[in-house]
Amino acid sequence: MSSDLSYEVIIGCEIHCQLMTNTKAFCSCENRYGGMPNSRVCPVCLGLPGALPVMSAEYVRLGVKAGYALGCSINKVSRFDRKHYFYPDLVKGYQITQFDTPLCEDGIVEINTAASDQPPVLRKIRIERIHLEEDAGKSLHIGGSHSYVDFNRCGVPLIEIVSKPDIKSPEEASIYMQTVREILKFIGVTDGNLEEGAMRCDANINLKITENGKEYRTPITEVKNMNSFRMVKEACAYEVQRQLAEFKETRQEYVDGMKVTMGWDEVNGKTVVQRMKNAALDYHFMAEPDIQPLVLTDDYIKTAAFSVGELPAAKRERFKKEYGLSDFDVQTLTSDRMLSIWFEKAAGLAKDAKKVANWILAELLAVLNEQNIGLEALRIGPEHIAELVNALEAQTITSKQAKTVFADMLETGKLPQEIIAEKGLEQVSDSAVIEKIVDEVFAENPQAIADWKKGKTNVAGWLMGQVMKKSKGKANPKQAEVFVQKKLAQE
Ligand SMILES: [Zn+2]
Repeated sequence: MSSDLSYEVIIGCEIHCQLMTNTKAFCSCENRYGGMPNSRVCPVCLGLPGALPVMSAEYVRLGVKAGYALGCSINKVSRFDRKHYFYPDLVKGYQITQFDTPLCEDGIVEINTAASDQPPVLRKIRIERIHLEEDAGKSLHIGGSHSYVDFNRCGVPLIEIVSKPDIKSPEEASIYMQTVREILKFIGVTDGNLEEGAMRCDANINLKITENGKEYRTPITEVKNMNSFRMVKEACAYEVQRQLAEFKETRQEYVDGMKVTMGWDEVNGKTVVQRMKNAALDYHFMAEPDIQPLVLTDDYIKTAAFSVGELPAAKRERFKKEYGLSDFDVQTLTSDRMLSIWFEKAAGLAKDAKKVANWILAELLAVLNEQNIGLEALRIGPEHIAELVNALEAQTITSKQAKTVFADMLETGKLPQEIIAEKGLEQVSDSAVIEKIVDEVFAENPQAIADWKKGKTNVAGWLMGQVMKKSKGKANPKQAEVFVQKKLAQE
């Protein structure tokens, strides 16, 4: 084998993403995960003869929002088609989708390939199109001998996001999927629940191999239905090595229109051939006769786009500038829309936004992770964190006491000032009061003063202890120490 061989990885992703509408795409069945099999079906989503689809307005609106957030232009006119194939979970025998004229085209997703604590390294991945599509049902294989079908998922609204083959490594493919999920979750069009299959990725992979100055392209394989970032990374990495080995052995090259469909066998860590297919030819696409072309006005598109609001990347830049936070901090704070709103509210009420960020990132998120709950389950709001940070800033409480107050407010939902007053935690920072206590301690302990004069150096610390004891731990220790040192110097 020649040693003069180099290769580039070429990956394009198709992401299917379920949208958070109340109803299914073309009927009034509830759009919700799980439930008793076949309990959320009707003549429309079962494709019974004579049943007519009616498009959900929410479906279109969320599709436009997703397209806008992923930098696409929105087509004012898009059309629906039937994609035919035969599979037990596709009860109608076709899926309603958009083939020739999708809702959205020509987008960009910027991915950050740097480690989370490093300055961003951005790469642009182009989006070819986003089209509306309905989901199919689910086959359940139970006990090895029987298969069942659950049609609850039939007609659940999807968007399919098709990228250009701009992704250059398995890591990038995984980051791309994470970024798309982050954006779509952030703008509230999907819950992005990977375990429930709300987002699935198909990756098209091949290699451009250069050997002794000549270029080759390996056959494209499509690894279907991956629902975790790790799976995408591992399957792509496996395919890269497999294709490289296969090329060295067979010299087989890509033939236009041909691709092999594969699945990822997680248990054995390898891809498995599912079927050979001749690109789009075997679906017998035809215009959907029961649905009118979708015609959107400029006003409609503008209103939907406006409702997207600030996207995570823009929010990160602003948080860095406005609050002086690090890349790592802003990455976490903008990972969730609620969390970013929470942070900004608290930061607006507090004197030190950086400290607010620290409390949220170090203490609050630890509690959420530990109890596996979301912000909405908490008894406290942003105002609690702001008040706690302000009490610390004003030296009303020590940082040790702040932890006690934090635990208490999480449990009771009371505001920090209320807890501080109740527990009598307030530090005494009134210098006249502290000086008086120091005077008393000195007057009550003449022996200690005499010892100090003789050169016993640990007396200062002991006197401090007496001052803190006499003040029931409330004296501001810094101020008390200044008075003790000053008084000793006068002796
Ligand atoms: Zn239905």
